[in-house]
Formats: sequence, structure tokens, C-alpha cells
Amino acid sequence: MALPLVAIVGRPNVGKSALFNRILGERRAIVDPMAGLTRDRLYAESEWRGRRFTIVDTAGLVLGKDRDEVPAQRELRRRMEEQSRLAINEADLVLFVLDVREGLTAIDRDIAELLRRARTQAGAAGAADRTESGGPARTQGRAPARGQGGGPGGGPARTPVLVVANKADGRGRELLAHEFYELGLGDPWVISALHGTGSGDLLDAVVERLPPPRPEVADDQLAGRIAILGRPNVGKSSLLNAVIGDERSLVTAEPGTTRDPVDTRIVLGGKPLLLVDTAGIRRPGLTRGVEQYSLLRGLRAMERADVGIVVIDAREGISAQDVHIAGYVVEAGRGLVLALNKWDLLAVEEKEEKVWRRRIKEQLSFAPWAPVSYISAKTGQRVMQPLEVALKVIEERHRRVATPELNRWLRTILGQRDTPSRKGRRLRVLYATQAESATPTFVFFVNEPELVHFSYRRFLETQLRQAFGFGGTSVRLVFRRRGEEP
Ligand code: GDP
Repeated sequence: MALPLVAIVGRPNVGKSALFNRILGERRAIVDPMAGLTRDRLYAESEWRGRRFTIVDTAGLVLGKDRDEVPAQRELRRRMEEQSRLAINEADLVLFVLDVREGLTAIDRDIAELLRRARTQAGAAGAADRTESGGPARTQGRAPARGQGGGPGGGPARTPVLVVANKADGRGRELLAHEFYELGLGDPWVISALHGTGSGDLLDAVVERLPPPRPEVADDQLAGRIAILGRPNVGKSSLLNAVIGDERSLVTAEPGTTRDPVDTRIVLGGKPLLLVDTAGIRRPGLTRGVEQYSLLRGLRAMERADVGIVVIDAREGISAQDVHIAGYVVEAGRGLVLALNKWDLLAVEEKEEKVWRRRIKEQLSFAPWAPVSYISAKTGQRVMQPLEVALKVIEERHRRVATPELNRWLRTILGQRDTPSRKGRRLRVLYATQAESATPTFVFFVNEPELVHFSYRRFLETQLRQAFGFGGTSVRLVFRRRGEEP
């Protein structure tokens, strides 16, 4: 299911991440804390009044890890421009955050101008989309979602922008928000992201304006959906082209020729696969346009996929950004395959796979189970391996462990190590059951879920994987109080 996307934009320090966290609200608490994934969350699934959507703090995608650093004016403007463009082009709704305490600043006016302009362009029958992306891909990809809005004249509907007047935590602050009317982007929504005031009304307004979720094209024949992800220039399009050009893969429909125009269908080892949103990666004609395949677009592709192949430039080692991308894949509960590319450029002594595996285990400590392929998209070395491995991962994701078998296993491992205790109360694990496959989800019924701490959770997961497999995929462990059975 492709969920509608809500993007948050705004200059630094207006409270974008506070708003992001507010919108995630309770859902955030349910998500497993993962060790080794130290970063702000910028991209997550949320829900309000039964409507699911994805929320993204666009600033974080553009500003990277130094999100607190406020750059010089010119650089700031460039980043704001990129942020606004990303948001308008790829989101279904934009939340433009302002600070009522500081009132309107020059940079706020700039962003408003960019949003207004981009919005008008996006409304101009998709013409802007075509020229910017260097191909018709995005226009086609967006059309089903946008078409729902039914913009006048049959063109894609404009992306709605909601002005959010944040930090209205004291009395009289809302009066300051009047100034924001002059931006010409509609009535401001006065809120305090920190305290939660006004956020319910804002969310009502958000879900009212979202297009309905777009179901995936049903295809029972399909063995799975795979997304190729990674930073710019790591070799995603080179890998894709190598795969498509390889005689072992039969391309059954190219992007632009089927009713999912953004995807590529291939048959590999007799299994039909969908490579998700390859139109964005391929960059027809190799003209390096304004549009780089954005990380945001990659993350959206991942949402639709069973497995993400994260391509890494081996010459540069494993960067923080690579770790983040892999982290998103795991958080989303997908399978993860790592492809260390440009292997041909490494010196012999740099090719010690043992060293690489250790490095990966350290830096991607939240996914020690992720398979790794060492490839060269350029020479063609092992280029089919990440896909072949991804196919196996998809099978693992559908594995089911019968309840009696799971509980036999549980009894043996409970005997191996004391369960944690706190203030004289000891955790008791009563029984377990696999609630779901793809993402494999295990529910453990316990006396007190609060007693399960991270290291015990990890112990269970490691043991579970040793006993039953699930190689290459995230698994979810859920702890419920006995008596809370559905
Ligand atoms: P993308 O932005 O991730 O799609 O990256 P590209 O596929 O456009 O690759 C970026 C650059 O790296 C291009 O100049 C490629 O020719 C080069 N490149 C990609 N893969 C390899 C590889 O395995 N070996 C070498 N030597 N160069 C590569």
C-alpha cells in the first residue's frame, strides 16, 4: 500500500521535529527501540482517526546530520529551496511551520514564496514535473494519487499547504499568528507542538485533505517487490542497468510500458519480481538533471517493497547516511540486503571480507543478520547476487513457526538464562505465538512487559533466529501482559 505522504518544511528551530514527534505521538512508544540506531527519526508511519499516512521531516533529509547547525544565509536559502522542492514534488500535503514568538522572518517569506511558486507550477498540468525530472516518470507515478483531488481543468491537483503557527504556548500568542495571513497560504493553524495544544485540530485538517491510499496493483503471480536504495552516486542506476542487461534476468516490461509505469518487471530464476520505482533511478539518457533520485523517493519505494537492497560505495566505507538508510529499512520491518559496490576499485588488501563483515556488524549493529554482497556494477561482478539473495529473504519473511514448536523452543531457552528482574519482581514469559508473517511478528505473553529490557529482547531475537532462520529480514517481538490476549 502506498500511503499518502505529509512533509514538514520550515527554517531551523521553528519546532519541526517537535511537531513530527507530536504527530507520531503514542505510536512512537510502541516501536521497538533499536540499539545502534542513534539519530533523530525523520520518516515514519503515523495514523489519525483511522487514516494511515507517512510523515517526513524534510529538513532532516536535506540538512543531514547537522540539523542543529544553522548555516550561512546563502547556504540556508539553498537548502530551504531544496527542502521546499522535495516537499512539493513528492508529498501529498505540506506542513509549513513558523514560530509565533519570532514572527515572520525573511527566510520564512522566502520559503512561502517557493511554496507558492512550486504549487502553481505543480498545478500546471504536470508540465513542471516533466521538465524537472527529465522524463515523464514522476508525472505518471504521481497521477493516480493526485488525480483523486480532481484539480480544475483535469491537471494534477495542487499540493495543499497548511501554515502551522507553532510555539503558541502562552496566552495571547495566537494573536501574533495574524501576521501569517499575509503569506497568502491560507489560515494559520495555531498550535504548540511541545504541549500538544491545537495539534488534534491540525491533524483533522491534514487527514481531511489527504488523497485516499493507493492499493498496490494486485498480482498473485509476483514472488516479491524489491527496492534499490542508497545515497546519490553509489551506483544504483549502474546496478539496475547491469541487472536488466544480464541474460539471467528477463525483463518482461520496461518502465513506461505497463500500468505500473514506474516499476520494472523481471523474471529471475523463473520467479517474477517487481523492481520498485526504477523509473526514478534510471534517469533516461543519463542527463544529470536537476533531479537526483532523492532519498525521500527511495524511502517511498522501500515502503512498497518487501526487501530493500541498500547500495554502498565501498571506496568510501560505510557512511552515517548509509547507516540511516539501512535503519529506515529495518524500522519499516522490511528485509535488508547490503550491496557493497565499486569492489573493482578496491586494492587487494582492502577486499578482506572478514574485515568488512566486522565493520558492518559494528556500524549496523541493529541488523547483524543482513546479508552482504560484494559487487561491481561496472564490471558485472556478482551483480545478480543481491537480487538472488533478496529472493531468499522474501521466502524467509513468509516463514511460519507453529505455536507448539515455538513454545517448545521457548521452554528450552528460558532454561538457559535467568529472566531479568527489577525491585524484586522477575519477568515470567508464559507463552509465545507468531502473529504475522512478512513482517514476521512474535507475541510473547508475560507477567509484566515493563520488565523486558533491551538485552533480554535481543537475547530472545538472537535465539529465535538461531532456531528458526528469518535470515535477512527484520522480525518484530511484541510483549503483552497475560490476559491481554485479543
Ligand atoms: P546512482 O546515483 O546511485 O544511481 O549512481 P550511478 O549508477 O549513476 O553511479 C555513479 C558513478 O559511479 C558513475 O560514474 C558510475 O559509472 C560509477 N560506478 C557505479 N558503479 C561502479 C562500479 O562498480 N565500479 C566503478 N568503478 N564505478 C562505478
